[in-house]
Amino acid sequence: MKLSWKSYDLRLKHVFRIARNARETVPVMILSLEHDGIIAYGEASPNVRYGENIETLNAFFEKVDLEQFDSPFAVDEILRYVNSIAVGNNSAKCAVDLALHDWIGKKLNAPLWQMWGLNPKNAPLSSFTIAIDTKEIIRQKVLEAKDFPILKIKVGLENDREMIETIREITDKPLYVDANEGWKTREKAVESVRWLKDKNIVFIEQPMPAEQFEDIKFLRDHSEIPLIADESVHHLEDVPKLAEAFDGINIKLMKSGGLREATRMIHAAKALKMKVMMGCMIETAVGISAAAQLTPLLDYCDLDGNVLISNDPFDGCRNIKGRLELTEKAGLGVSPKEN
Ligand code: MG
Repeated sequence: MKLSWKSYDLRLKHVFRIARNARETVPVMILSLEHDGIIAYGEASPNVRYGENIETLNAFFEKVDLEQFDSPFAVDEILRYVNSIAVGNNSAKCAVDLALHDWIGKKLNAPLWQMWGLNPKNAPLSSFTIAIDTKEIIRQKVLEAKDFPILKIKVGLENDREMIETIREITDKPLYVDANEGWKTREKAVESVRWLKDKNIVFIEQPMPAEQFEDIKFLRDHSEIPLIADESVHHLEDVPKLAEAFDGINIKLMKSGGLREATRMIHAAKALKMKVMMGCMIETAVGISAAAQLTPLLDYCDLDGNVLISNDPFDGCRNIKGRLELTEKAGLGVSPKEN
């Protein structure tokens, strides 16, 4: 098994501002795994919140030696080894996990959703994300997103109400609200959820900082809108405790370390009667198409990372008015664009 990797700078169509930061371009790494005449792909979208960047990805991939394994079919054993290389580095681990799954699907000539016996008809529609911005730009973005039936709104700075009011002047579509840990006190958080009540808000994602677990529990007791964990949840082991403070979890491949762990988390959350959502970072069609394979198992889905960029180097799962199209293409169903 031979690995190679290449970085890309993804250009965002609009500056992407959330409660934590603002970005115009996002660096990602595409990992290629070659074995037995098949080339498979994985992706890492490094997250600065977790100390990841292109350098840490390079350093991690340099350490991965898959020569000791006979084939990508040994995915359980391989991922255990990859996990043991270093703590953290979840997006790098994700890239390896995705490439292994893509290879297996290509070898067996079947898409992953089909190998897993899932029915694309059960997949929820994906939301389209509108990041924090001025009234004028919010108006423009909402109009641009007219084909998408669900919007996800980033809040958590000073202009939450102005943004929601601006959107509500244009549309009454259901909204997912994501505060990205932006509400720092119980007072601010309770006041915000009260204000959002009766505004057709489906749920609120990560209202408060992950380390303020007790405050989030308190907020849940005072919120009529369901709360979904994002920054609070990474791996399977996080899930049971979160049931005390949240109504659901937002799983991302770049946090979980890939499809295998994400699948475990989905089933654990269901056992705890929690809602299950999958989200994404800014990613190419590789990461999005991988997550899309699991969408028939989800309650909510926010997989628009590649719709927000203008230079996706890959073709993959298409997003048609929020519906992620699962095709018969093998593995992740992705191929590099010719240029
Ligand atoms: Mg989020």
